[in-house]
Amino acid sequence: MDPIVLTHGGTKSPPEWSDGCERAARVGAAVLRAGGSALDAAVAAVRDMEDDGRFNAGRGSCLRFDGITLEMDAGVMESTGRIGAVAALRGFRHPVDAARAALETPHVLYAGEGAALLARAFALEPWEGGASEAMRERHRKIASTWGDPAARRPAWRDADLGRLWNFRTPLPPELRPEDTVGAVVRDAAGRFAAAASTGGAIPMLLGRVGDTPLPGAGFWAGPHGAVAATGIGEEIIRRLACRGIHDRLSAGVSPAEAIRAITETFPGDVAFGAIAVSASESGEHANRSMAFATARP
Ligand code: ASP
Repeated sequence: MDPIVLTHGGTKSPPEWSDGCERAARVGAAVLRAGGSALDAAVAAVRDMEDDGRFNAGRGSCLRFDGITLEMDAGVMESTGRIGAVAALRGFRHPVDAARAALETPHVLYAGEGAALLARAFALEPWEGGASEAMRERHRKIASTWGDPAARRPAWRDADLGRLWNFRTPLPPELRPEDTVGAVVRDAAGRFAAAASTGGAIPMLLGRVGDTPLPGAGFWAGPHGAVAATGIGEEIIRRLACRGIHDRLSAGVSPAEAIRAITETFPGDVAFGAIAVSASESGEHANRSMAFATARP
């Protein structure tokens, strides 16, 4: 089979960031060239984007609503059915490595403190750096427009933040009145793998987990291909979007068409995008800008 690596930089990532996706896809392709599996390549590609700093993953992760907390989600899967994921992970440089570590254990998904202790048990690299300046700025912007419900995302328009607030720090006075990375790979042995990593979607309460660590929602790999999604996690979970795309691949629909069909089930004001590979094709589609790239070993 013709091996290939596809990467994306999340919905709303501008085309100018494609260089980061290209570099990551080439990193994945180099892993395949060296004899690595589809899973090895997908993890290597996502690791690279977690270090980029522009994408909402790893060191570029977005802040939670309190403007202080970083919690990250990641998931990996290969077409053999092995799955690993971490949710609300704090303090590690490469959440995708923690997801890969989870895959080596009897469980699928680890959350919070347990995820961090698993990462420590696998001697993964800690990371104490805070949010990037770009993410601080995004948080400031959300905070400054919060008083105007019309400026909020639809799901938040009627939210009573005073009642919902679940951080240990008090609700900041100004609050009183999104992108992710992913990779999908087909290797020469015909195996597929998907990997995804995110800092979440602004605005976010403490402990919120999106689609990215949930198999079938934010990623999926099976006998007919691999898929990774990006966009508003809550809506992606409701649709089990990646599993839906894979089901279409299994019926012979092309990757781009399969993604398009699922995208049409999202309201226009909800960002959604995905990348996918099947046995013979690859494709991407998003209802917003989405940087992406393809590389072959
Ligand atoms: N899907 C991610 C989440 O909701 C965010 C994104 O893809 O931009 O956590």
